[in-house]
Amino acid sequence: MGAQKETLGFQAEVKQLLNLMIHSLYSNKEIFLRELISNASDACDRLRFEALNNTALYGDDGDLKIRVAFDKEARTLSITDNGIGLSRDEAIEHLGTIAKSGTREFFSALTGDQAKDAHLIGQFGVGFYSSYIVADKVTVISRRAGLEASQAIRWESAGEGDFTIEMVDRAERGSEVILHLRDGEDEFLSSWKVRQTIRKYSDHITLPIVMKKEEWSEEKKEQVVSDEDETVNQASALWTRPKSEITDEQYNEFYKHVAHDFEDPLAHIHARVEGKQEYTQLLYIPSKAPFDLFERTSRHGIKLYVRRVFIMDDAEQLMPLYLRFVRGVVDSSDLPLNVSREILQQSRDIETIRGGCVKKVLGMLEGLADSDDAADKEKYATFWKEFGRVLKEGAGEDFANKERIAKLLRFASTHADTPEENVSLADYVARMKEGQEKIYYVTAETFTSAKNSPHLEIFRKKGIEVLLLSDRVDEWVSGHLTEFDGKPLQSVAKGGLDLGKLEDAAEKEEAEKAADEYKDLLDKVKKTLGDKVKDVRVTHRLTDSPSCIVADEYDIGGNLQRILKAAGQQAPANKPILEINPKHPAVQRLKYEETRFDDWANLLLEQATLAEGGSLDDPAGFVKRINDLMLALSLGSSR
Ligand code: ADP
Ligand code: MG
Repeated sequence: MGAQKETLGFQAEVKQLLNLMIHSLYSNKEIFLRELISNASDACDRLRFEALNNTALYGDDGDLKIRVAFDKEARTLSITDNGIGLSRDEAIEHLGTIAKSGTREFFSALTGDQAKDAHLIGQFGVGFYSSYIVADKVTVISRRAGLEASQAIRWESAGEGDFTIEMVDRAERGSEVILHLRDGEDEFLSSWKVRQTIRKYSDHITLPIVMKKEEWSEEKKEQVVSDEDETVNQASALWTRPKSEITDEQYNEFYKHVAHDFEDPLAHIHARVEGKQEYTQLLYIPSKAPFDLFERTSRHGIKLYVRRVFIMDDAEQLMPLYLRFVRGVVDSSDLPLNVSREILQQSRDIETIRGGCVKKVLGMLEGLADSDDAADKEKYATFWKEFGRVLKEGAGEDFANKERIAKLLRFASTHADTPEENVSLADYVARMKEGQEKIYYVTAETFTSAKNSPHLEIFRKKGIEVLLLSDRVDEWVSGHLTEFDGKPLQSVAKGGLDLGKLEDAAEKEEAEKAADEYKDLLDKVKKTLGDKVKDVRVTHRLTDSPSCIVADEYDIGGNLQRILKAAGQQAPANKPILEINPKHPAVQRLKYEETRFDDWANLLLEQATLAEGGSLDDPAGFVKRINDLMLALSLGSSR
């Protein structure tokens, strides 16, 4: 391979991102240093991880550290590490594209309004590119661990659409990132400013961050750089320090590093567990959901350490999927240092640690949810908005903690007016009417269609609260969470309506009478609709609508059928039961209808299907029936 220099283009989005970032993060520009140091630290972690199976990667340079230096003359600031380094292909890929799975969503969320978009950029996290806030050119010289000195690369870009890459010689392993500072950014050529920035944002980095010591020169009458190294940060693992010695700011900065996030976390828990397994956990709840929350493949989860030695990133065995938004570190005192992912998968010790982590996270959430403090309550509301849909998965996945998770769930309800105001199951139970034995809910595709479901009519009339479930995952939740606090959960759109003690004897008698009286009509409707329905019966669950459809007790409901179908899965073709309201004039007149009976019968089914959010097999037929009836009515009234 020659030393030829190649010019390559950035992925189209990178340029857009750079522009936006420079403008929106300028007011907080020193964070670029935090990001570059964070990357240097990650690169050292990665080297350690790869070296677990190949110690030769260390060569004779096993003392991992990060060096920050500046050159006043050249007006450059450099961040150097002896970590994993970058091969040519890696440099092109990692520094020329944005490898985040939510990139497309991110760009489609941009509004073009800089003030609004600036807020988004923090959530997205821009890492390496933040160097362009203060630099008008960035050079990266890097040698991948395991490659020869002649295989090093030099990457350079002014951040304006393209970058160059060439092969160079580099004796040391790892990367040096050199920032050519923009005019006016000379403050980063000051020892004081750089040290202060490192202490503020990167103190928690476990590796030493070193700078050359400065000394007073009597001769020059100024501070001059000496040959001696000095460690600028505490270089001790933050989580091993006593809680009382850690400030909120330090907790927050550490979070930004482990989570690759730009925003402060919502909450954290820091605890040392002693007993069968000894470990320390420092776990965080982010304040914003990442773009790839639902991909289930997000890259940054929990970092695992053993006796302060970094073992691996994203140790997914430490947190169940439904808590995949949790970030932080777990440091075990007992696991072997050579623990691998495969070992973790079968390890009982890991199971114990994971169980402990889950309990702590649930405890932290309960602390917020049940707190009397308004700020905590607000935090729980934010948490629920961002991560509630993920936590709901736990109601079906985590049998051991089902009760605790159920208490944390929140739902929209007929008790509130908007989907944002939600209620807990405990709130619901506390408001249950005398004689009410069940927790009622309806599932639908949207909040509006749940709220307007005809199935709610009788509940409204009697003032009984119904939970309005319109998240996709709610079907899964209601399938697994069959009771709460000893009260069964009951769909209002399934099975026969049994309000138990909520109905009085007179109402029951009336319902039975209606069933007798309408028997002939029901048979006739059933015959007309044929195999479109499973059954036709009268109902008293409706007060305003002429009809509705319900699913048989053990069949899957219409909403779940539609979700499965949309996901390309096979759904059992359960036929609905048509229920008609004997008090409705349209139903009453049907007893005497002869010429248009078929149309009326079909309309009862079709409008009930639409009201439930379903779609019709023959929409044109439906429209024709409506038009015919409208025509008949208008002719009738003009006479
Ligand atoms: P993130 O750190 O969230 O992955 P960044 O934009 O900060 O995103 O960095 C992008 C990628 O560039 C990193 O994932 C890594 O692969 C690579 N990279 C950046 N800095 C270094 C470094 N000092 N050594 C090795 N690789 C690096
Ligand atoms: Mg980074």
